[in-house]
Amino acid sequence: MNGWKTRIEGALQQAIECNQKRRRIACEIVQQKSEIIVAGRSYLNFSSNDYLGLSQHPELLQAAMVAVKTEGVGSGGSGHVTGYSESLASLEHYLASWLGYDSAIVYPSGFTANQAIIKLLIEKGDRIIADRLSHASIMEAAILSPGELRRFKHNDPQSLQQYLSLPLSDNAGQLVITEGVFSMDGDIAPLDQLAKITADRGLFVVDDAHGIGVLGAEGRGTCHHFKIQPDILVVTFGKAVGCSGAAILLSKTLAEYFVQYSRPLIYSTAIPPMQAATLFASLQLISSHTGDLLRQRLAQNIAYFREKMKILLSAIPADHPLQSSLQLLPSATPIQPLIIGESNDALKVADSLKQKGIWLSAIRPPTVPPKSARLRITLTASHTPEMIDRLIKAFSQVLNLQNR
Ligand SMILES: *Cc1c(COP(=O)(O)O)cnc(C)c1O
Repeated sequence: MNGWKTRIEGALQQAIECNQKRRRIACEIVQQKSEIIVAGRSYLNFSSNDYLGLSQHPELLQAAMVAVKTEGVGSGGSGHVTGYSESLASLEHYLASWLGYDSAIVYPSGFTANQAIIKLLIEKGDRIIADRLSHASIMEAAILSPGELRRFKHNDPQSLQQYLSLPLSDNAGQLVITEGVFSMDGDIAPLDQLAKITADRGLFVVDDAHGIGVLGAEGRGTCHHFKIQPDILVVTFGKAVGCSGAAILLSKTLAEYFVQYSRPLIYSTAIPPMQAATLFASLQLISSHTGDLLRQRLAQNIAYFREKMKILLSAIPADHPLQSSLQLLPSATPIQPLIIGESNDALKVADSLKQKGIWLSAIRPPTVPPKSARLRITLTASHTPEMIDRLIKAFSQVLNLQNR
């Protein structure tokens, strides 16, 4: 027992010493106003992944309430027993036809979906080739798998090509996995090139957690934007879809393989019909004219923010302590990273912004490379130009620029 005690207390002490202690903060979200209330104080929220503002949309609330009244709040079991509700079946059919696949299978979360894919497909001798900046859910499953893990240079087709050409034992397979939009940099993967290089040499898997709902015609995501179809597409519902859960899209044969053998599917309670019905309503909205309008507003907000931020950054004097490190990364997505440099500086700026009523998160190494601590600003369709003005003004005050 003493071994556990030493190990656990040591790890906790280390988190404190490295100034990397994570915490969960209880908060209340008021979506329409992009407001977040923490400990009784209200802030403008620039750290939400609810990119289209759908989490509190009246049509989703209505769908949820109708479903609750008729079907209750729980699914009552695994989909392999009695948990596979009509609502869930309809959701899967809709997803498959909307995204152009034979089949869709819903998992309770994106984390589980990625684990399920790697767990089921990768056997001893197989190789996983993942983008270096892939999400923790992908990396963790890959590390725990019996296969060999290679990490190709971020968004670099040549690097992928090299790994794909390494010798492989007979009957072994390779699985290439990347994301549509990267969560820390907001950049988009060159999926067309990666798909072409992978074709016939391995299974191509794309996790489009941050692209679905936002990119491509009807919000069908990054793959549709590039007009490619990976062997498996992962979409998650906790971001632009405004709810939670995830689905994998695949061929009929692959889907059958998962239904027979995917343990996280077979031995986990299916999502409640209420959630399935809400997700269905959300996807309908996303692919409708309303969805187009929300995406338009989001795009306008992104353009407006970048324009204002660039003006602000260009006004930074040469002797400003952060002059050489401050940088707005090029990003066409709702994720807008502002590099600050050192972890402590990023924390200080984020704290000062909080005092001015702006909520956003500082992302520090080791989540991002050394000396690239940043503020991750996320924009949504619920923001107004006035809110973005408030953000910019707060930045300019925190960076001490306003009267120079
Ligand atoms: C958020 C995220 C996930 C996890 O999805 P959840 O549904 O929140 O578990 C997986 N992959 C990527 C790239 C993500 O950004």
